[in-house]
Amino acid sequence: MQLIEAETGRVIGTVGGSSSHGTAHAGAVYVHRGETWLVESLDLEEHVAVMHRAELPYSTSAREITDISIVAEREHRMWQDCRLSLGEVDVSHRVVSFLKRRQPSGEVIGEELLDLPERSLRTTAVWWTVPGDVLTESGLAAADVPGAAHAAEHCSIGLLPLFATCDRWDIGGVSTALHADTGRLTVFVYDGHPGGAGFAERGFHAALEWLTATREAIASCECLEGCPSCVQSPKCGNQNSPLDKRGAVALLDLLLVGALAE
Ligand SMILES: [Zn+2]
Ligand SMILES: [Zn+2]
Repeated sequence: MQLIEAETGRVIGTVGGSSSHGTAHAGAVYVHRGETWLVESLDLEEHVAVMHRAELPYSTSAREITDISIVAEREHRMWQDCRLSLGEVDVSHRVVSFLKRRQPSGEVIGEELLDLPERSLRTTAVWWTVPGDVLTESGLAAADVPGAAHAAEHCSIGLLPLFATCDRWDIGGVSTALHADTGRLTVFVYDGHPGGAGFAERGFHAALEWLTATREAIASCECLEGCPSCVQSPKCGNQNSPLDKRGAVALLDLLLVGALAE
């Protein structure tokens, strides 16, 4: 996708096709090499986003709906009652709106709907599940479970580049307190490239080290409620909500206790 300056037609840069919906939609404030631009239009057929330089008192962030379904499990490992899997998934994304946030406070000052098509991707994912009775016995409050899973997902995405040679922008994640295909709490981390690029696979094989490092990164971060160094993600399509830092540590402990017992 080419970024075009409206006044001159000059190409000022490019953005990956898969991220253009979330960052270069009409109305987006686009930061390119430290300069801010306002996107006038995104033409998906011509692969161009037309924009002009603008100093604006707000930033924008897209809201995205992501669905994931399991096509086939290729390998799995039981960590007591928790299950770690590697396999093929279908991921679908749709950017549905964007929020305007006043800078620097971050206060939301408006939301605008977008009409963008769904994109889908068949790729490889690593995922782990925790059965409902294990969650209930652990004492983790049901209301905290979605935020705990989401926070664990974000931090694990942030740390996978230490175990697989990738960039956090090459991978994505989905977490849910109850997934239709597993019937359980499930956290997925998937390769952002069609067919997979081996990152999820590395995650599966290094899962104990990777998820232990994830747990440590969250537990040792000195912030109170979660910050960009631990559980907040710059690419979250859900505006980093809900996130439960303490719940994430408790959830990862449940998973890792099972791994160490095997
Ligand atoms: Zn933190
Ligand atoms: Zn998220």
